[in-house]
Amino acid sequence: MASEIFRSYVISSITQEADYSSIEVIGMNAIRCLTIIYCIYQFKRLLKSKYIFAVATVFTIFSSIVFTSTVLNIFAIKTSDLRDALFFFLLLIDLSRAAVLAMFAFDSKGPNEVKSNIANGLSLLGPGITLDTIVEILLISVGTLSGIPRLEILSWLACLSVLVNYIIFMTFYPACLSLVLELSFLTNFYKTKVSLLSMAFKEEDQKPNPVIQRVKLIMAAGLVLVHAKSRWMFNGNEEQDISLSRFNRTDDSVPSEFVTRWLNNGGDILLISIIAIVIKFMFVEDHEINSSEKQNIEKMPESNFTIDGPVYEDKEVQTSPSLKYEDVEGADDDIPRLCRTLEECLKIYRNVDLGATALSDDELMMLIRNRHIAPHQIEKAVDDPERGVGIRRKMVEKEFLVHPGILADLPYKNYDYSKVMGACCENVIGYMPVPVGYAGPLFLDGKELYIPMATTEGCLVASTNRGCRALRLNGVTSSVVGDGMTRGPVVRFPSITRASDAMGWVQDKDNYQKIKEQFDSSSRFARLQRISVKIAGRYLFMRFVATTGDAMGMNMLSKGTEYSLKYVQQVFKDMEILSLSGNFCTDKKPAAVNWIEGRGKSVVCEAIVPAKIIGEVLKTNVNALIDVNNSKNLIGSAVAGSIGGFNAHAANIVTAIFIATGQDPAQNVGSSNCMTLMEPWGLNGEDLYMSCTMPCIELGTVGGGTILPAQGACLDILGVKGANLQEPGANSAQLAKIVCGTVLAGELSLLSALTAGDLVKSHLRHNRSTTVLSQALDPSKNRYLLPCKDMV
Ligand code: NAP
Repeated sequence: MASEIFRSYVISSITQEADYSSIEVIGMNAIRCLTIIYCIYQFKRLLKSKYIFAVATVFTIFSSIVFTSTVLNIFAIKTSDLRDALFFFLLLIDLSRAAVLAMFAFDSKGPNEVKSNIANGLSLLGPGITLDTIVEILLISVGTLSGIPRLEILSWLACLSVLVNYIIFMTFYPACLSLVLELSFLTNFYKTKVSLLSMAFKEEDQKPNPVIQRVKLIMAAGLVLVHAKSRWMFNGNEEQDISLSRFNRTDDSVPSEFVTRWLNNGGDILLISIIAIVIKFMFVEDHEINSSEKQNIEKMPESNFTIDGPVYEDKEVQTSPSLKYEDVEGADDDIPRLCRTLEECLKIYRNVDLGATALSDDELMMLIRNRHIAPHQIEKAVDDPERGVGIRRKMVEKEFLVHPGILADLPYKNYDYSKVMGACCENVIGYMPVPVGYAGPLFLDGKELYIPMATTEGCLVASTNRGCRALRLNGVTSSVVGDGMTRGPVVRFPSITRASDAMGWVQDKDNYQKIKEQFDSSSRFARLQRISVKIAGRYLFMRFVATTGDAMGMNMLSKGTEYSLKYVQQVFKDMEILSLSGNFCTDKKPAAVNWIEGRGKSVVCEAIVPAKIIGEVLKTNVNALIDVNNSKNLIGSAVAGSIGGFNAHAANIVTAIFIATGQDPAQNVGSSNCMTLMEPWGLNGEDLYMSCTMPCIELGTVGGGTILPAQGACLDILGVKGANLQEPGANSAQLAKIVCGTVLAGELSLLSALTAGDLVKSHLRHNRSTTVLSQALDPSKNRYLLPCKDMV
């Protein structure tokens, strides 16, 4: 009976447009339009990701069903009667929070993380959403006091809608999200499709702004007062209560009893609960924050100080790690991003006591954009390499790549950038992980060695490893036959006469000694060995050759050459130094001079491989091997006009070891020069003798990338890390022998594969990921069916 009366009232109040005044009709239509625009806007935001869109849509549909069925159950009315109420309902739905919680969930890297990420998301979003819900209910329920019957009923329904939405969001939605994601992980769907979502998501962006929170609390308190006053009036004098008057249209109507009862009992309880929650938020929570801040401040050394809440560190007297600006609870929120002007930020940045640590990342980016901080000096400016790299990544993503999250797969955290800065790389945005395998043991000069190789070429390590196995019985013998890094400047004279005079002067023994003194004074380890001079018209090219201890020596050579040239210039004042490097060095370019005269370490190594092993391990025979080596490595390379390329794939091994041990990878150009020779050995010639000659291996165990921890570890594996204190140069010489010995193993294995004809087979097995193989099945992607590059 009661529901029947209320139903008819609701129907007459909401849906009978005929009863509407023209202003109400216009108002209702405006609300409908607004609702449609709002819905389009919300869906447009979500459409960036179909997964988030799907999740938020499911959430909306579910909460609509629950809301509608709640209303239908309570008031026993038809769905069609709620036509306009549904517009209000749609206007109250905020899909973005469903999307944000979904993003928290999608940020998980495994099923175990799903629950904790959702809990984390709820703990971040929950308080803000609860407060929003309270404020919304209080605000909308003001409509119930309006005295306009339709507005009153719509306000009641809107309050109910907000409440239903809230309850579903806090209970059912996270549970479903967790279940669906855990199932996705089990079916691998997440990994292949959904994981990309997390790229654009930043957890810190979801923290509520405390300033806005406080405004909401004050608003809530004011609304509570309005309600309390109105309800008080209503309780005191029923006749004056406009809200009730409408239900008293029928004297004995049960709805009036229902509403009265609700307002007198349920309403009171709700009111008390709201006041209690508001009091808790305003006083208890605030107090907790204050006490935690207080604890933080108590933990701080005396040298730290606070400005308007945030705690800053005094860098000059800092002895232990202390809280940074970002670590202070709420610090990021108290001063919202970019709320300070450029001038304010600049002032803080230039303040010796505050500096960049007191600025947020966004504020620092503003300074960089406005050229107050040089983009290549961010690390130095913020005095924190990792933070600096992080800021540069944000800038690169935002301003150049225009694709947030594009760098997500390029790691940058937990790396010792202090060793990189000013030494190994500039404008750093991360580091490149390259797989490192090992080949071995290689039995070299009586020692067993495990060779680290950094490569992404499948088969390479396996093949080298097989070569090492074949060489294990007799081992490899090596010898360093030359040592001298080079630098070849170009100078110019007014005439060929002056140029040839200078040439003779440099070649004179006594003058050379004086130049050497100058050169050697530039370093404790660099020692000039000779100067080879070439003339071209009035140009003179002097190739300075020097030993450089355990360093590869390019910088050392540059320094020593500069010292020497200054001395020569004192004698030949008309000598014009055109370039410290005149390409007669020759560095990182193919050149016969290196192949003929050597550069860096000149190494040769040899091995004897018994016929039995060639058959059992390498699946070939001596004659076939020698035949292929002669025709390919000697005749073939001669036909190609090769300089130093009389080998099968020395560059493969050289580069992989260079990357693993922190060498300058560009120096694989000269370092890979190699001649592989093979001949029959033994009484009947059934065994194999082979050698590799590498005249220009440019490497070192100090300086350059060898100082980086991972590269240092690989040098350590080989027992050649750093400087050899007893015998400077011994470590780099040993590393050069290792490179040459491993090249020999690699040559043996690849040539065997070529003679046995199983090169393509093994590459197809080891050199392709399953993805690539599956692509190869597609005729449109048959580029993978081209011959392996090692055969070329
Ligand atoms: P470096 O790090 O510039 O110099 C080696 C430093 O280590 C010197 O200061 C040397 O002392 C010291 N040292 C300590 N113990 C040593 C030992 N046992 N043996 C040798 N030196 C020892 O290294 P570099 O090899 O000359 O140069 C390598 C860097 O140059 C790499 O980063 C490479 O990429 C780069 N590079 C430069 C050029 C160029 O044209 N400049 C070209 C190619 C590559 P002293 O000060 O007493 O000599």
